[in-house]
Amino acid sequence: MPSRKDGPSVDLHTQPMPRMPGVGPRVAEKLAARGLTTLQDFWLQLPRQYEDRTQITPIRLLQPGVAAQVEGRVEGVERGFRYKPMLRVAIGDDSRATVVLRFFHFRAAQVAQFQVGARVRLYGTPKPGQHGLEIVHPSYRVFDDDSDEVALGEQLDPVYPAIEGIGPATLRRLIGYALDRLPDDGSLELIPQELRERLQLPTLREALLTVHRPAVDADVAALIAGRHPAQRRLALEELLAHHLSLRRQRISQQAHKARPLKQMPLAERLRKSLPFKLTGAQKRVFDEIRVDLAKPSPMLRLVQGDVGSGKTVVAALAAMIAVQHGRQAALMAPTELLAEQHLNNLRRWLEPLGVRVAWLAGKVTGRARKAVLEQVASGEAQMVVGTHALMQEGVAFADLALAIVDEQHRFGVHQRLALRDKGAGGAVGKDAIVPHQLVMTATPIPRTLAMTAYADLDVSAIDELPPGRTPVQTVALSEERRPELVQRIRGACAEGRQAYWVCTLIDDSDEVIAQAAQTTFEELSVQLAPLRVGLVHGRMKPKEKQETMRAFKDGELDLLVATTVIEVGVDVPNASLMIIENAERLGLAQLHQLRGRVGRGSAASSCVLLYRSPLSGLARQRLETMRQTVDGFVIAEKDLELRGPGELLGTRQTGLAGFRVADLARDADLLPLVQELGESMLKTSPELAERIVSRWVGGAVRYASA
Ligand code: ADP
Ligand code: MG
Repeated sequence: MPSRKDGPSVDLHTQPMPRMPGVGPRVAEKLAARGLTTLQDFWLQLPRQYEDRTQITPIRLLQPGVAAQVEGRVEGVERGFRYKPMLRVAIGDDSRATVVLRFFHFRAAQVAQFQVGARVRLYGTPKPGQHGLEIVHPSYRVFDDDSDEVALGEQLDPVYPAIEGIGPATLRRLIGYALDRLPDDGSLELIPQELRERLQLPTLREALLTVHRPAVDADVAALIAGRHPAQRRLALEELLAHHLSLRRQRISQQAHKARPLKQMPLAERLRKSLPFKLTGAQKRVFDEIRVDLAKPSPMLRLVQGDVGSGKTVVAALAAMIAVQHGRQAALMAPTELLAEQHLNNLRRWLEPLGVRVAWLAGKVTGRARKAVLEQVASGEAQMVVGTHALMQEGVAFADLALAIVDEQHRFGVHQRLALRDKGAGGAVGKDAIVPHQLVMTATPIPRTLAMTAYADLDVSAIDELPPGRTPVQTVALSEERRPELVQRIRGACAEGRQAYWVCTLIDDSDEVIAQAAQTTFEELSVQLAPLRVGLVHGRMKPKEKQETMRAFKDGELDLLVATTVIEVGVDVPNASLMIIENAERLGLAQLHQLRGRVGRGSAASSCVLLYRSPLSGLARQRLETMRQTVDGFVIAEKDLELRGPGELLGTRQTGLAGFRVADLARDADLLPLVQELGESMLKTSPELAERIVSRWVGGAVRYASA
């Protein structure tokens, strides 16, 4: 720990990045738009991945899914049809094997480069294709002069997250420029030396230099897997920062007051009027909520529960306590479709009890909107359901006592607080009275993770499904058996059921995925005629997407071909068959979410996981887990256990994106330490805690004003 006194010059993170020669104001603007303005922003702009260009791999030794550098000669070139442009280039080398490069987008100049016999050096991740291995959109160079000698790389190349309008080379130069200005006087260090030594972790400066500029003899495998001590060091500090910011947020929130809500008769009436009995888990969680609501400080509770576990009714019961007190409850969902589903349920349950339910979404406009706003402001609306529209300006509640937010991940902390502020009638001062907050998520995560990811909330789990559901039957089928599926889809549709076909590719490009979905859609439309097939993917306009989703929901389509955009989406109880392509490449959490789209009605449902051989050991275990259980909590535990070193799944998989280095699953073993450190730091050195938070989380979390 440096002995320097805290002073204005200490927090170097606030120093602006000096103007680098050759970088104009336009570039600076683009960088600023991505939050890159200070020196520290550039230091912490960490590589997303590494590319190992220090060697050349013989084509024969390429392995699916393992990125490699290859050098060979063009053996053949093929262009697609006029209506379906595609460029395929076969490259062969001395190992007497061939790999195919595939381009969905290309320019004429590119085609001209690939003359048969031309020498090409390329880098990419091979995947099994129609004829052997294929690399989609590799980075490559064609040697003009055959005698060109180009040296191999001497160290791993860091790959930075792309920034639109800024080339990767410029970005690398900028980061290098910032790194050259890393202070070496220890002023950066925030983790006490004694702790670093105990954990055998490098200093921040050393860690940053290793991560950005790995030495020739660095442990390549560890770096690529994200488990190098340098990365662990950064992950620890980042996790600590998030933990601290959430804890502090919780402390400041709990300093506010809330009106205790205790009266139960209306909730009782709702419970008795339901056409079903609450499950044990629902009762337990509702009891936990009741206890919270009865306190004079705001409830901050997260309810985790698998899809279909019945979270909505628990939320409705809680809302009735607020309404009984003559106050309001609001329920906010991330999409219009989800919000509308809630609206329908709540109206069905609450209106017979005489509770007035109002609806506010983006598409409620003009006079209708004005009327709703009046009802919300006057208190005539007792329960308000909607999308983010609830948080917009001009929406004022008469007396919001309970703010319920569904699907926490899609909103994040800011929005949750924004809805809370609505209840407090504006920016929240110290002694403000704020609404109770209830957050619901359908992505169960194990306890250790929950304690960090939701360190600002108390967590309840609805870990039991209502009785009478037939669990979804899951099978794993090799890709070769794909033709059988056409029959299977026909069979389901002949019984009046509907099916989903999910196209996935682990590829960063939306475009490539959309393209694949388009192709599948066209093929299936022909094979399945006259069944009605629809398509949704992330590149479509929201309007088109919603229109197709709605058509599917209304039974106007038999099969929906989709990318993973349907993960959180419409509830179509009539859909009983889910087919997931490339299932071996998805994480358990995502597979589970996707499968949750079926099995929502009374009919027996099934899920087919299509995979390509050969399966890695981990992929096999994931598919096996999916076949064995439908319990989201079991799957979440297994996910954590299986996601060991060597497997890089995006943060998307855990549903908790937003970290620069840390990965909650990969770094789960650090969490107990993070919790322990965090608690002691808040007690003994709050100033240090503050600096760690501001370094990593910055203004992103608004505890400061709360
Ligand atoms: P989720 O937890 O995914 O939000 P929902 O609240 O939408 O689940 O509930 C799924 C379905 O189960 C709804 O149709 C709901 O009415 C029904 N349901 C909820 N609780 C029970 C129960 N205890 N017994 C039977 N059905 C229930
Ligand atoms: Mg729900």
